[in-house]
Amino acid sequence: MSTNPPGGAGSSTGGGGPCGACKFLRRKCVADCIFAPYFDSEQGASHFATVHKVFGASNVSKLLLNIPVHKRVDAVVTICYEAQARLRDPVYGCVAHLFSLQQQVRTPTRIDNLFSHSGGGVCV
Ligand SMILES: [Zn+2]
Repeated sequence: MSTNPPGGAGSSTGGGGPCGACKFLRRKCVADCIFAPYFDSEQGASHFATVHKVFGASNVSKLLLNIPVHKRVDAVVTICYEAQARLRDPVYGCVAHLFSLQQQVRTPTRIDNLFSHSGGGVCV
C-alpha cells in the first residue's frame, strides 16, 4: 500500500522540492536538512547564496548545530543580515551600523542643537 512518488523526496512539507540552500548547492535535500526550515526554495535560495558567499555553507551548518532549535530562526535572520551587510560594505560590514549608532549616542548635543534652532520639521 505504499506509493513511492517519482523523483525521490519522501517527505514533502507543502511546496515540495529541495530547500533554498540545497537548491543553491545543487544537492539532495534530506528529510532532516538543517537549512530546510529557514530557506524556502524561492527567496531562500538567494538569501542562502549571500550567506554561503560570506560564511560558507558548512560553517553555517556547524554554527546552527550548536544552537538550540528554538533559537535557530533568530540566528539565521541575523546571519543573513550580517552577510548582506558584509557584501554591501566589505570593510566594515554591519559594524558600520554599530559605529554610526555609537557616535550618535556619544554626541547627544546634536539633538540639543536641533531644538535650540527651533527650525521645525527636523528629521533626525
Ligand atoms: Zn535542504
